Amino acid sequence: MMRRKNARMGTRKKVHAFVRVKPTDNFPHEMIRYGDDNKSIDILLKKDTRRGVVNNQQTDWSFKLDGVLHDASQDLVYETVAKDVVSQALDGYNGTIMCYGQTGAGKTYTMTGATENYKHRGILPRALQQVFRMIEERTTHAITVRVSYLEIYNESLFDLLSTLPYVGPSATPMTIVENPQGVFIKGLSVHLTSQEEDAFSLLFEGETNRVIASHTMNKNSSRSHCIFTIYVESHSRTLSDEKYITSKINLVDLAGSERLGKTGSEGRVLKEATYINKSLSFLEQAIIALGDQKRDHIPFRQCKLTHALKDSLGGNCNMVLVTNIYGEAAQLEETLSSLRFASRMKLVTTEPAINEKYDAERMVKNLEKELALLKQELAIHDSLANRTLVNYDPMDEVQIAEINSQVRRYLEGTLDEIDIINLRQIQEVFNQFRVVLSQQEQEIESALRRKYTLIDKNDFAAISAVQKAGLADVNGHLVGEPDGQGFGLGVIPFSFKPGKKIKSKKTFKDQLSIPVRKEGASSPLSTKELDISPSKTQLILPPRDGDVKDMRDRETSSTEPFPSDSPKEELRPPRPSTPPSKPVAFEDFKNERGSEINRIFKENKSILNERRKRASETTQRINAIKQEIDTTKEALNVQKALREKQGEYENKGLMIIDEEEFLLILKLKDLKKQYRAEYQDLRDLRAEIQYCQHLVDQCRHRLLTEFDIWYNESFFIPEDLQVALKSGCSIRPGMVPINRVVSLGEDDQDKFSQLQQTMLPEGPESVSFYNAKVKTEQKHNYLKAITGLQQVNKK
Ligand code: ADP
Ligand code: MG
Repeated sequence: MMRRKNARMGTRKKVHAFVRVKPTDNFPHEMIRYGDDNKSIDILLKKDTRRGVVNNQQTDWSFKLDGVLHDASQDLVYETVAKDVVSQALDGYNGTIMCYGQTGAGKTYTMTGATENYKHRGILPRALQQVFRMIEERTTHAITVRVSYLEIYNESLFDLLSTLPYVGPSATPMTIVENPQGVFIKGLSVHLTSQEEDAFSLLFEGETNRVIASHTMNKNSSRSHCIFTIYVESHSRTLSDEKYITSKINLVDLAGSERLGKTGSEGRVLKEATYINKSLSFLEQAIIALGDQKRDHIPFRQCKLTHALKDSLGGNCNMVLVTNIYGEAAQLEETLSSLRFASRMKLVTTEPAINEKYDAERMVKNLEKELALLKQELAIHDSLANRTLVNYDPMDEVQIAEINSQVRRYLEGTLDEIDIINLRQIQEVFNQFRVVLSQQEQEIESALRRKYTLIDKNDFAAISAVQKAGLADVNGHLVGEPDGQGFGLGVIPFSFKPGKKIKSKKTFKDQLSIPVRKEGASSPLSTKELDISPSKTQLILPPRDGDVKDMRDRETSSTEPFPSDSPKEELRPPRPSTPPSKPVAFEDFKNERGSEINRIFKENKSILNERRKRASETTQRINAIKQEIDTTKEALNVQKALREKQGEYENKGLMIIDEEEFLLILKLKDLKKQYRAEYQDLRDLRAEIQYCQHLVDQCRHRLLTEFDIWYNESFFIPEDLQVALKSGCSIRPGMVPINRVVSLGEDDQDKFSQLQQTMLPEGPESVSFYNAKVKTEQKHNYLKAITGLQQVNKK
């Protein structure tokens, strides 16, 4: 819903590192010295005489930092360390303030302060106060504040505010989650606070839990890291402003940095020590990586601490480190190590940036307003340019269909140009070009598939199967493939075979265009070649798919005169090494398996011819009658003219005409009657012819399709496969077109389509499930077919 955008990238900034020295009565002035600017600290160690004469150990160190806080009040510490960070957070910059140092050096005192003494309150309560004070001042903005309090102990996450009645203990352990908005802790309670007091209550609640936990769970509070986070969200009170800013302030009280485990600690202490040492050293690694401009991978995810702080360390935040040290000689070793950490931290640069987001709802409203305005603009433009009203709304289905048809007509050449109306329409035109193009590609491919078996060149199993079937040479080149041009052709067109000269001058591309034609037309045989002789005048329906199958079923069972599985076929002479030409083979086919279809075809054809003949005769008769009608009319006109010339005779109001004229009138009447009758006959005949024509076309199509199958089975399927087809019983010749035997793809595809229609009540999500299912089935079927073949080969 919300979009995050980091706007107004700030200039690069260094991490600010301060040192706070815990007050002491015996400050070792000879060992710890501050620079005049109060920004550097020198440590001077006396030569360790016990180590003997050979002593290469460094004894003086100088650390340059952003400030040394010696004997500084909580007030001053806050001013120096936190005030700017908090104030910038209200402008949208994330901020992190971290206290680092050995146990007892004053981290908690600096961060939380004395909870019983207002004056000695630490950064945390002061930050909350500052936030609420600034909110009060910023009347132009609606600002919300939320807080959370997280503790990390031995790599486990604890919600220090989970004891609040409305939160309750979480059922699942907390996890650190990253999303484009940043890092957040799933399961950590975040509390909206509308006033300072509430915020404080939360802080104390957390502090109490920290102490209680250290008793009840036997955990040492100085061994855990605590992160108090203040989340700020600021919306402008002007309604039109869709931008808003968010930020968070992380206040981190780290676990004691003293090196534990050195002194042979055991059990719980050892475990704590290991975790702390690890997490602090990971923190350091992350910080070193952040300080190295060349590193682009920062190891944030090595421990919970760095992971949880991922978007708060370096990056686009304001970052401050307070290193708490003892001002005592006895602690110098740890002090040194803390100062080293501080100076490394100072190397890290960050690039603070405002976290700007967009209020989607407000944005939509604003955009709608703008859209309406722009439409009005357009209307004005159109009327100024004398254009009729143009519709700029999204197109509906009908408009899109119209554009699709325009594009098709344009491609066909029946439309010269497509008028440009507006940008939307231009885009739709391009879109429809793409649609039409991809449809055409599919059509071409499926036409190729109907005619040929296309095999993936990388599918070695398929290629070897084809090789076995004798359709490819040993090098994997498919027969019929010219110079390895990469066209996988399973079944070759009969006129194009290796070792045989192509008679026609057609190029190979022309040869390829053959399969693109529709099935009926794909056979090289024209209608004329189909021997047609008139016989019975009875209409016979052509066999449909089912009928043919039925016929075959009957065939196997016994008596029908269909020959495909009959002994006759078994006794067929061995197959010639080169297949006969298709016209020759077609003659055989018509006497063999195609005899019944051919008979039906011939009969229907003869009925059609007979009807056509009758129609033509009727037409001739009609023409003759028409002619006679015309001559009779003419004769009548002559008679009429003659009568008028001679003067008319009338008898009691009745016109008197002579006998000749009377006979002519009668004849004309009779002719017209004949004409009408013949015309009705012709109309009936035409309807019959149309129906017959349809039947004949169907028969022809059937005949040619069956012939193709028969031809492939008889001359191209390897003989062992034919054996398999015969012995397998479930698949028999004619039922399986050769391309299916080799690819086993289309049946499964059909099955899948059916499956999709009947078995997808779960909705479109289940498609991938069924896809996988069908693919697995396909694979199994293919493997089954191959092993079947291999077994047949062995026998
Ligand atoms: P840490 O959290 O680093 O282990 P604490 O903040 O708990 O250390 O400090 C240990 C003790 O020292 C506490 O009793 C605390 O009140 C006291 N203390 C630490 N720093 C100061 C300071 N600057 N002024 C006064 N007392 C301090
Ligand atoms: Mg502490």
